Amino acid sequence: MLGGGLAFAPSAFARTKRRDANSWALFADTHIAADVNQQVRETNMAANLKTVVDEVLQLPRRPAGAFVVGDCAWSKGDAGDYATLAGLVDPLRSGGIPIQLALGNHDNRENFWQALESGHKATRPLADHHVALVESSRVNWFMLDSLETTLQTPGNLGEEQLDWLRKTLDKHSRKPAVLLIHHNPGAKENIAGLKDTERLLEIIRPRRQVKAWFFGHTHHWSVTQDVSGIHLINLPPVAYIFKEGDPAGWIQASAVTNGMKLEFRCLNTGHKAHGQEVELDWRKG
Ligand SMILES: [Zn+2]
Repeated sequence: MLGGGLAFAPSAFARTKRRDANSWALFADTHIAADVNQQVRETNMAANLKTVVDEVLQLPRRPAGAFVVGDCAWSKGDAGDYATLAGLVDPLRSGGIPIQLALGNHDNRENFWQALESGHKATRPLADHHVALVESSRVNWFMLDSLETTLQTPGNLGEEQLDWLRKTLDKHSRKPAVLLIHHNPGAKENIAGLKDTERLLEIIRPRRQVKAWFFGHTHHWSVTQDVSGIHLINLPPVAYIFKEGDPAGWIQASAVTNGMKLEFRCLNTGHKAHGQEVELDWRKG
């Protein structure tokens, strides 16, 4: 390399970093307000997002991409929230790390599309929902849109979106598939989560390529499995926690041959969850 890294501006230097095609940065519940000084529960959300973006950029190897798994915006998805969010994640984009944003119950789809996705209308897989398939060498990411009504807590995918998921999974049956949905699996008695959880499970349980479902929404970190062996990962919030003592932060996910390694990066590096590693083994099939 000519003259070493110091000769380069930070963003140009980031682009020269080696890329890890199997590593991903997973964020959820960023809750960015238009005003970067806005605080909720003694947490400055913009400062938290800036911290985690900087951490991703400082990794020795650049991840292949980043996701925000819903509740991108503070409360009701104002246009100004998305303008501020766009500025905060721009260092990732200019550092060569593509970022995909999913919608949650504190987002507004029209404002989001206008602020962040203008010009992409023709290429949207679905006209009414914000979904994406991100393919990589070891895993296919299916990002879904569970925003039903802004500011109403439960979520829903709906038949049209489930149909898209079914068809797209069937076209991509040979590689492990991982879902990203803002809402958590909702049992009948728990209507705060995803209302059509049972319909979703009917589709994904028999499609053995589906290995994991990552979600946010509860602002509480946990890793479990459903009866069919699908891993259920509740991502921590980048913003505020609901329960004192819970960790906030992000997850670095590394796809391996038959699974995924997760590393928790806490915002409070003194928290016992900081650096915690979880190995997910993919179910057979
Ligand atoms: Zn949230």
